Amino acid sequence: PYEVLVVGGGPAGASAAIYAARKGIRTGVVAERFGGQVMDTMAIENFISVKETQGPKLAAALEEHVKEYDVDIMNEQRADSVVAAEKTEDGYIHVSLESGATLKSRSVILSTGARWRKMNVPGEQEYSNKGVAYCPHCDGPLFKGKKVAVIGGGNSGIEAAIDLAGIVAHVTVLEFADTLRADQVLVDKANSIANIDIIKSAQTTEVIGDGTRVTSLKYLDRVSNEENEVELSGIFVQIGLVPNSDFLKDSGVALSPRGEIEVNAKGETSLPGVFAAGDVTTVPYKQIIIAMGEGSKASLSAFDHLIRTPAP
Ligand code: FAD
Repeated sequence: PYEVLVVGGGPAGASAAIYAARKGIRTGVVAERFGGQVMDTMAIENFISVKETQGPKLAAALEEHVKEYDVDIMNEQRADSVVAAEKTEDGYIHVSLESGATLKSRSVILSTGARWRKMNVPGEQEYSNKGVAYCPHCDGPLFKGKKVAVIGGGNSGIEAAIDLAGIVAHVTVLEFADTLRADQVLVDKANSIANIDIIKSAQTTEVIGDGTRVTSLKYLDRVSNEENEVELSGIFVQIGLVPNSDFLKDSGVALSPRGEIEVNAKGETSLPGVFAAGDVTTVPYKQIIIAMGEGSKASLSAFDHLIRTPAP
């Protein structure tokens, strides 16, 4: 059995694994895809002390750093359930994998991340990282002085529009419904900013580009049934971030209404010995640097738990 078993190999998981291994305790990492969302990212300019890097390069560096230590990396393995120590006969926490194997550990760190909900329209995939973006904090400055759209009129969409309006030339917000779901204070703020336009009852239908970059966006006006086209350079999709926590449904790990793992300031979940870190948790602001900090914190908390708890 492991002392610390990390589920998820993104920035949070890599950081948790390194902190655990540095304590000299038996550490494993199970990851469906080592590197996580970082693998889908191009320019990264806000990972402090590294002025500019690319996602795959950072992911390779994460893996290289983890491999400096004695950590069992089980890549391309998906966890499908977690059973609390109090429910197992041997007193270890059990993590079962889709492959059929069961891993046992005295403590578990859940860092399975999240995924941005996609528009699922033609051109979105093709122009991802070529104008189609999901993170205004990350990619906003890349569109300085240009026209962009924000898809989604919920809190994250309207916050993104307010944020981007200070950097870009113009922001068009497209909301599918006939009302905005965002808080009224945010809507009022957005309405007071001259370079934000909000269009309701607008169904995005296609992302158009010139082969290398996004050039426009088509949407259907759901009231008049007319198809319109907006010329722009960037599209920020803000229709939800879905935590990868489905496999925890019957585990007893408490989830928020949005499916995020509830954690306290130490990264503890509702189950003893089970910790969580990164985008899958209730910790606000989903960023690489935050995920890494939370991963190291969860790992130190796991170590604290281990030295206070007798082995089964
Ligand atoms: P993730 O990176 O999501 O990693 C989750 C890990 O868990 C992966 O290894 C995954 O395969 C694994 N996993 C999931 N489910 C299971 C399972 N059931 N069993 C086993 N393994 C599982 N942030 C920035 O700070 N700067 C940026 O410039 C930036 N740009 C971004 C651009 C894009 C296109 C995207 C999508 C995100 C960007 N982000 C950026 C956000 C950043 O990537 C995330 O905040 C960060 O990766 C979160 O780390 P994490 O370890 O919590 O989760």
